[in-house]
Amino acid sequence: MERPRLARSHGEGEGVGLAAQREWFEKDYYAVLGVSKDATDKEITKAYRRLARQYHPDANPGDTAAENKFKDISAAYDVVGDETKRSEYDEVRRMGPMSGMGGPGGAQNFSFDMGGDGLGDILGQMFGRSGGRRGASSAGPQRGKDIATTLTLDFVDAAHGITTSLHLTADAQCSSCSGSGARPGTSPKTCSSCGGRGSVADNQGMFSFSQPCRLCGGAGSTIEFPCSTCRGSGIERRPREVNVRIPAGVDNGQKIRLKGRGTPGRNGGPAGDLFVECVVTPHPLFAREGLNLLTRVAVSFTEAVLGATISVPTLEGTEVSLKLKPGTQSGSRHRVKSKGIETAKNTGDLIVTVDVAVPTTLSSDERTAVEALHEVLSSPRRKAQS
Ligand SMILES: [Zn+2]
Ligand SMILES: [Zn+2]
Repeated sequence: MERPRLARSHGEGEGVGLAAQREWFEKDYYAVLGVSKDATDKEITKAYRRLARQYHPDANPGDTAAENKFKDISAAYDVVGDETKRSEYDEVRRMGPMSGMGGPGGAQNFSFDMGGDGLGDILGQMFGRSGGRRGASSAGPQRGKDIATTLTLDFVDAAHGITTSLHLTADAQCSSCSGSGARPGTSPKTCSSCGGRGSVADNQGMFSFSQPCRLCGGAGSTIEFPCSTCRGSGIERRPREVNVRIPAGVDNGQKIRLKGRGTPGRNGGPAGDLFVECVVTPHPLFAREGLNLLTRVAVSFTEAVLGATISVPTLEGTEVSLKLKPGTQSGSRHRVKSKGIETAKNTGDLIVTVDVAVPTTLSSDERTAVEALHEVLSSPRRKAQS
């Protein structure tokens, strides 16, 4: 059955509007329909139909009282006749009385004082807002900042992975007061102005818009005797050491995120992250192409011509042999399987580029031999072949 609807007093499409919330606190829709709070959907629908027939404007022409009653019935059924809205309504009613209510988020820069722990968050979720009373002001926990640093790594260490320590000078939890901001031996006390909530209500009739507490700046506590090291901030800029595990195969420019190792949070908020950018120093023999290692090996002209088995260095400092076919070209690439960089998931190859070396000095015997070779290679028969 299509139920009759009146124009709604609040905007549709942006969740439950402020007006609707206010109505929910003020009006007992169950009483309007004459049913109990734990009435079944069927009972509610039945009660609504009966009353709607009774007070329908068509049945009561010119009777404004009946018309208003009909509007109330429809508004009540609009909420408690809808499973989702009914549970939201029940939740809102269950949590009252409230010291204030939030409107749709975004437009105004104020926070909402819900007058109880977590209530703001519950309402925030319910009405699709984020943040609740913590959203727009400086009150409540704040996440610490992310910080970035670089770490210079040896090529071999980067390939194999290493546990090392980073030294950086950055904001950290104050070492004198362990971040409380209070002089050692004393402790912060609950703010007398806001009672520890970090915000104070500014009553404006029906609504109380909360503002960050001026006395404690939103922290919820005040410090009588500030720590002399951090002047009460709980945060101190100092050199510190951070242990970091660099996974095998990390490459130049790669960033590693160390969760929670950035600037400490405020008012109990989580710490930021530390981002470590790896700077890998070049290796005299090897370069990288992903997990593949690249190297170059020189061979003589005769080795290239006749073919040879050559020794190739590995990153581990050992050698592997590589067989070159007769007629190997200078600049050609040869793959030695699985001798590249090994990570937990994959292993790369060693890619060898062969350079044919040309001697710069020759003994007289060598010169004679090369000249003889030249004679043969320049013979008319050879030329005819090519
Ligand atoms: Zn305060
Ligand atoms: Zn301190």
